[in-house]
Amino acid sequence: MKALLAAALGLTSAAAALAPAAAAEPTSPLPTAASTSGYAQYAGSAEEAANNKAFFEAVLASVAEKRAENPEAATVTVTYSTASAPSFRTQIARSTQVWNNAVRNVQLQEGSNPDFSYYEGNDSRGSYAYTDGHGNGYIFLDYAQNQQYYSPRVVAHETGHVLGLPDHYTGPCSELMSGGGPGTSCTNDQPNSTERSRVEQLWVNGLAEALAEVG
Ligand SMILES: [Zn+2]
Repeated sequence: MKALLAAALGLTSAAAALAPAAAAEPTSPLPTAASTSGYAQYAGSAEEAANNKAFFEAVLASVAEKRAENPEAATVTVTYSTASAPSFRTQIARSTQVWNNAVRNVQLQEGSNPDFSYYEGNDSRGSYAYTDGHGNGYIFLDYAQNQQYYSPRVVAHETGHVLGLPDHYTGPCSELMSGGGPGTSCTNDQPNSTERSRVEQLWVNGLAEALAEVG
């Protein structure tokens, strides 16, 4: 079954080896292949700004709720789980390091009671950020796409959505949120100065708004 699937997807043997025997099943339903709108993809034409915004707002509300319980905390922390993306732990840790070095107003941290979760698997749509509309945010990482494109960049890009950045596929490789736009040869996984500033600003203004809503 696994071999058939890998063959059908045209994966290399390396890609097939990367895929675990039993891909972790999401505890909440992820979108099915039948519905193709409403997701922000890493590459492709289905740019969906509204979903990016909804995803960011879901994360923001989750963080703000915890923040209200612990207003003394010096740093705004967004907590995530990698339990359902075990083969991407290295790339996720790298993405966390990239973002935590790039911005100060928000920090990422792996931990319990997560604000969002990473998932891995096979999806013809590739990797994407997704929210179910009920305050739950996911980042889905597609095996084939992470072989085709530079995986640390894919992960850092999708995590950029967590922090509030929209897609900008027409941008250059020096932009993280241009995603798959600059092609498979692009290996930049660092946000540029504009992207950094935008995140910093979002987490000053955005958190204040979110706090007002839950407070
Ligand atoms: Zn994107």
